[in-house]
Amino acid sequence: MDKSFPDNLHNSTKGLTGWSSLAIHGGHHEDPMYAHQTPIYASSTYVFDTAEQGMRRFSGEEEGFIYSRWGNPTIFEAEEKIAALETFGLNMEAKAILHASGMAAIATLMMGTLKAGDKIITHFSLYGGTDELVTKILPAFGITAVIADLRDLNKAESLIRSDKAIKMLYLETPANPTIQCVDIDELSRIAKQNNLVVACDNTFATPYLQQPFRFGVDYIVHSTTKFLNGHGTAIGGVLLGRDIERMKTSMTKTHRLLGGNSNPFDAFLLIQGIKTLEIRMERHCHNAMEVAGYLEQHDAVAKVNYTGLASHPDHYVAMKQMRHPGAMLSFELKKGLQGGIDLMNKLQMCVRTVSLGTCDSLLSHPASMTHHSVPKEEREKYGITDGLIRMNVGIENIQDIINDLAQALN
Ligand SMILES: *Cc1c(COP(=O)(O)O)cnc(C)c1O
Repeated sequence: MDKSFPDNLHNSTKGLTGWSSLAIHGGHHEDPMYAHQTPIYASSTYVFDTAEQGMRRFSGEEEGFIYSRWGNPTIFEAEEKIAALETFGLNMEAKAILHASGMAAIATLMMGTLKAGDKIITHFSLYGGTDELVTKILPAFGITAVIADLRDLNKAESLIRSDKAIKMLYLETPANPTIQCVDIDELSRIAKQNNLVVACDNTFATPYLQQPFRFGVDYIVHSTTKFLNGHGTAIGGVLLGRDIERMKTSMTKTHRLLGGNSNPFDAFLLIQGIKTLEIRMERHCHNAMEVAGYLEQHDAVAKVNYTGLASHPDHYVAMKQMRHPGAMLSFELKKGLQGGIDLMNKLQMCVRTVSLGTCDSLLSHPASMTHHSVPKEEREKYGITDGLIRMNVGIENIQDIINDLAQALN
């Protein structure tokens, strides 16, 4: 049974050709009460006119909402908007299911696709939560991970060919926290030749910068908490799939029964955030390039990791599959741990915090914060040195960002 809006409500996305037009109008349905903005439908259940209508809704014969864990008008608008953006210009359809968090969307993907005995192959640099899910939670259900450096395509191919239990290729590009990029097109081609399901975490790029469906990927996940929401006001996640039938049946069932549904208030905030995604991403990327250039010539900085710089080892791959290189960069201070602590303490406008995707510039120092409890040798294997600073370059005035970094680096 589909949780679609009744047919008589007009959907205004038809015929739109520009990206922002779709980001603003996509998924919107006229409200029966004529509200301009889609209201926050704070209702756990929906009413039936008659017992017969209830029967038709439950049997799937008639479309309409029943219970908000299954579907909700505010949530539905956010889902349709994101599906429209991930398939923009691709001559294909996708179905999106909004979740309470990025982790909930990833959990539905894994539990809805894999069974005991199956393996996932993935890149070693991954969002920490995803890494823990595949190495600490899924093994109890008989699902294990093969973790490799997926930038080595030959190695990836031989691993996939040599182990028939590998059923899913899981990509995250650019990856957290290293900003490494892997080749979606080449890897998904290898995976498809070997009948693997291919999924990609598109959080860092957003559908504006990168469309994994273009490269044959089956599923896309996002933490909407980051750039899609864009203002740091809600946790959320989304799972998209190109196999509509499967999304409507087994994935919908997995989502409903695991219970990681979103809520109308967070969906409302997400809808408002997505409307400005294109102009935000343009400004984020422009500012990031300026900041990278500034840091690269600074005496206190040993190294800048930004995929927009030709010096980055994944520059070519990033430019091949992304519109712009994104808003995230990291840099290494010559003065190591103390240099990192000093810089963090001197920031005036830029904010000291983890996470990413907000309008404001955020800096974090993994060695003293997120990775403080990881032994130094372990950290360094992943490129997380004592003086490494990670930055989400915000959309403030570029001169103010550079002035703040300049005085903090002094
Ligand atoms: C934040 C993040 C997640 C997890 O999302 P939550 O919304 O925090 O559950 C997954 N993947 C990436 C790349 C992230 O940055």
